[in-house]
Amino acid sequence: MDDRIIPLILKLAAIAGIFAGIKICLDSFIFKTLKKRRTKYYREDYLKSDAWKAKRQIVLDRDNHRCRICGARATQVHHTRYARKIGTEPIEWLISICDRCHRKEHKGKNYED
Ligand SMILES: [Zn+2]
Ligand SMILES: [Zn+2]
Repeated sequence: MDDRIIPLILKLAAIAGIFAGIKICLDSFIFKTLKKRRTKYYREDYLKSDAWKAKRQIVLDRDNHRCRICGARATQVHHTRYARKIGTEPIEWLISICDRCHRKEHKGKNYED
């Protein structure tokens, strides 16, 4: 192989590596930003919407206001799964839950839903 071609390949590989690195950083930044925006929308808009309140009430009524985990009086509704598109989760993915169990389910983190 020509001696000049090896440094060139190394240089190209280094450049490709830098671009790959930039892309990874950018992707994670975009991902985080979108996630943050989604969480904000979720907390500040969806959980305050009439649609959510209606759904929440349906779930509590279905479960007779009983916690589906321990049987205590439920005051909250918990998502067992989240829909990709906010607001489209079927009520089967929602359970009535008491404050104590809810805290446990979310390991003490924000647990509004
Ligand atoms: Zn409970
Ligand atoms: Zn929850």
